[in-house]
Amino acid sequence: MDKYIRNIYKGVYTVLVGMRITIRQFFEPNVTHQYPYEHDFEKKQNVREIPKGYRGQLYNRIEDCIGCKKCEMICPVDCITIKGDKLPKGEQLWDSMNVVHLKDGREIIGILDGDDKKIDLQGSLTLTNTTSRLGPQEVIDRLEPSNDDTRTQTISGDEVSRVVTRNPVVFYLDQFDIDMSLCMYCGLCTEVCPTECLTMKDSLEGIEYSKFDRTDLIFEFDKQEMYNKDDESSIEAAD
Ligand code: SF4
Ligand code: SF4
Repeated sequence: MDKYIRNIYKGVYTVLVGMRITIRQFFEPNVTHQYPYEHDFEKKQNVREIPKGYRGQLYNRIEDCIGCKKCEMICPVDCITIKGDKLPKGEQLWDSMNVVHLKDGREIIGILDGDDKKIDLQGSLTLTNTTSRLGPQEVIDRLEPSNDDTRTQTISGDEVSRVVTRNPVVFYLDQFDIDMSLCMYCGLCTEVCPTECLTMKDSLEGIEYSKFDRTDLIFEFDKQEMYNKDDESSIEAAD
């Protein structure tokens, strides 16, 4: 009989001990989150720094892309699709220009004084016909230098991250899609890109982009509005 009562006492006692822990946790802050609606990196909790050079999600700075298709050709799993059209012979969408990418994210567009193939970042660069903009993500307007040749700007080489030369465009992109559900993150496409516009994000956003629908992992990078073509009908399809 004693044993029977001891067992009942132990059973009630252990339930109360368990309930005490449960009730204490009830008032603790929530450590779970509603994935994938909430992401760890947005909360900036329990997240380690991503190492520089990590091969994450692909991003194409499309305004520097020349549509050469080298990335499409080298991709082992065919996850890049590029379609382009060319203009009739003798026509071009803009004149030759330089895009100076500054370390603070701004870009200055204009025409560099001197030979743009021998740029010395130890000194300073002078640009004429300049326009400037905040950065590639914000751009939706046409990418071109100003018509005003009195607009000049001298930039110290220390501020410059890189300089891109854009030749006159006789070819424009209709489609630049990357299917990230197929990508195996080998990075070959970024290595062959001659303008270095195709990069892999090494930030937290670059590793965390879950979707419910697989087709949402096809990232479209073409920006038709950038070309601002006056007469669509004058553009002929490429062979
Ligand atoms: S990183 Fe992805 S898109 Fe680029 S070549 Fe490799 S598999 Fe293709
Ligand atoms: S290799 Fe670079 S420049 Fe050529 S099409 Fe691909 S992203 Fe554009």
